[in-house]
Amino acid sequence: MSGQWQEQVSLKPYNTFGIDVKARYFTQAHSDEDARQALAQAAAQGLPVLVIGGGSNLLLTADVQALVLRMASAGVRILSDDGERVVVEAEAGEPWHPFVQWCLSQGLAGLENLSLIPGTVGAAPMQNIGAYGVEIKDVFVGLTALDRQTGELHEFELEQCQFAYRDSVFKHHPGRWLILRVRFALSRVMHAHLDYGPVRQRLSEQGISEPTAQNVSDAICSIRREKLPDPVELGNAGSFFKNPMVAAVLADKIRVQYPGLVAYPQADGQFKLAAGWLIEQAGWKGHREGDAGVHRLQSLVLVNYGQATGLQLHELAQKIQADILERFGVTLEMEPNLY
Ligand code: FAD
Ligand code: NAP
Repeated sequence: MSGQWQEQVSLKPYNTFGIDVKARYFTQAHSDEDARQALAQAAAQGLPVLVIGGGSNLLLTADVQALVLRMASAGVRILSDDGERVVVEAEAGEPWHPFVQWCLSQGLAGLENLSLIPGTVGAAPMQNIGAYGVEIKDVFVGLTALDRQTGELHEFELEQCQFAYRDSVFKHHPGRWLILRVRFALSRVMHAHLDYGPVRQRLSEQGISEPTAQNVSDAICSIRREKLPDPVELGNAGSFFKNPMVAAVLADKIRVQYPGLVAYPQADGQFKLAAGWLIEQAGWKGHREGDAGVHRLQSLVLVNYGQATGLQLHELAQKIQADILERFGVTLEMEPNLY
């Protein structure tokens, strides 16, 4: 259905929270040309455009009075291969986890710690997706984006993306850049990152002492399946809050009352606190208000038990934020993009 616009389309199948709001118009782009045409047509009508991929990092709080443009472009290719370092390029609409699996099937390591993250390749740079001690910035080479203000193509290299913890230049300029394709430098030689969370333990339980990249991916998939709700069964957008960075003096102050505080020292002297731990200590784990709730196993994940609206989920999130600020003096920042 390239090029065709549908009217008053329910976005329920297009966001992993399963929020039932409508898009005034909806279309999908299977190519650069589709995307350009949709943007030009919307501009001619004075319509705003909301670009989406897999909808796994969105909280939709009202009907979207815009053209929703879903990136559905496909294609993965090897651009260069010197026998060890291999540069791979993928189109924005490629689903992330199948792309990771394709790289592993080619004997390419580098993305295994990012296995089973929902969403698309094109959205991955938005918040510099990360898990188990690896972020895409660690293997990122470049990307091609369309400047929605000028209609020109722009090549971004690593430094220009301003990647940081769940952050990038693209997140700071919402609506400016349409990411078309992304390039990664992967390796035929495995450099394992196993010191994060229970990855090493899971591998050792399986009797694996020298894991392949596929072993690491499989271990991470099994851990994630145990800990995280599958959006197909229970609507969610993964972690709802970023882990807060706080000054050492605040971490010390909290530790006086909560000796079990989970805090990771950072290079700049700050401490990263586990937001899920703070929320659990405050008693929110498993809390439910109507169909909006805090997951019973993972306090960082807000869930939709069926009919919750985006506003109800947002209200619950705001109550949690206010409580954590009052109890711990810590500000929690939302991770999903709010519309
Ligand atoms: P969408 O939700 O569709 O969009 C997200 C944002 O990107 C929006 O602002 C949208 O406008 C913009 N956007 C989308 N595509 C483009 C494009 N081509 N060009 C420009 N802008 C675009 N995230 C992590 O970092 N680590 C995790 O481990 C992780 N685990 C998760 C687990 C679960 C169960 C869930 C539901 C989510 C998880 N997430 C995680 C969050 C989410 O999967 C990622 O942020 C993912 O990259 C979002 O991709 P998407 O295609 O679904 O983006
Ligand atoms: P976990 O293993 O229970 O750990 C809790 C938190 O502690 C994590 O959020 C992680 O921070 C941090 N952490 C753990 N080990 C660390 C180490 N060695 N050094 C520094 N920080 C450490 O976490 P989880 O909830 O099961 O998630 C596992 C991984 O998947 C994490 O990296 C998490 O970010 C990622 N994940 C992300 C989302 C999302 O939507 N963004 C959803 C699910 C899982 P970081 O979050 O900063 O890595």
